[in-house]
Amino acid sequence: MPGSDETPPTPIRWPGGASCAVALAFDLDGPTGNALIDGSIWRNPSFFTLGGYDVWRALPRLLDLLSDQGLPATFFVPGWVVETWPAQCRAIVERGHEVAYHGYEHEAFWQLTDDEQRRVMARSLQIFRDHLGVVPTGFRTPSGDWAPRTAELLAEAGVLYSSSMRGDDRPYLIEIAGRDRPLVEIPGRWELDDYASLAYQRNPNFPAGLDRIAGYETTFDNWRREFDGTRRDGLCLTTLFHPKVSGKPGRLLLLERLFQHMRDAGDVWFARCQEVAEWWLAEAYP
Ligand SMILES: [Zn+2]
Repeated sequence: MPGSDETPPTPIRWPGGASCAVALAFDLDGPTGNALIDGSIWRNPSFFTLGGYDVWRALPRLLDLLSDQGLPATFFVPGWVVETWPAQCRAIVERGHEVAYHGYEHEAFWQLTDDEQRRVMARSLQIFRDHLGVVPTGFRTPSGDWAPRTAELLAEAGVLYSSSMRGDDRPYLIEIAGRDRPLVEIPGRWELDDYASLAYQRNPNFPAGLDRIAGYETTFDNWRREFDGTRRDGLCLTTLFHPKVSGKPGRLLLLERLFQHMRDAGDVWFARCQEVAEWWLAEAYP
């Protein structure tokens, strides 16, 4: 349990005596990222459409699937996506899901100064408030890493939890100097990142040197086994899925099967990340 002296209860107690926690989470990046930040995306229309597909086409389909299965989820959304497609993002909230911080243009937080990180958080908050009427409590770093003082700056910005690190397969607490309340970390894993098996694009080439995607049966089997292990050991699973990657027609069938497999277990606590964070804090500070 890195960053904290607290020890988690053993076995972990989940609400209602559930076997494990599943916090489905999606990063709705749209066309944000390096190409948007440096402006090169405007010379690469096809790459822009790949990002636009995320919000226009994949998101509504994914929201329908979640509604059909009665599952809650958390969407980490860059501020730029919210202000560019407010109606589509409002649908996330209207369907009962959580929206949370993911940078403004998907900046690499580890490359930003303290003040630059503060500005990204403040601008994002304003956008979430103005367009969605929401004050987010969660954050996922857009770049897979953060700067030395990021955790402190998140706490300063009123953030309750992060889902950015990799240090456990349960939530854990990150103590913040000078603050009573620690930051809850709900760690994800690359095995449950759909980019690792299903992303493929040209110009820019990704993944470099690996000109194929994984078989869908193999991908489903990997994800299913990660869930089965999580359930057997009573842990917490979150996903790093992206609508533009796994919200395509064939991949959506994988998600449908995966969600059904999880629901068939009959004893899983499906929750938004914020609920997991609140539960974890309450358990750590009874
Ligand atoms: Zn992202």
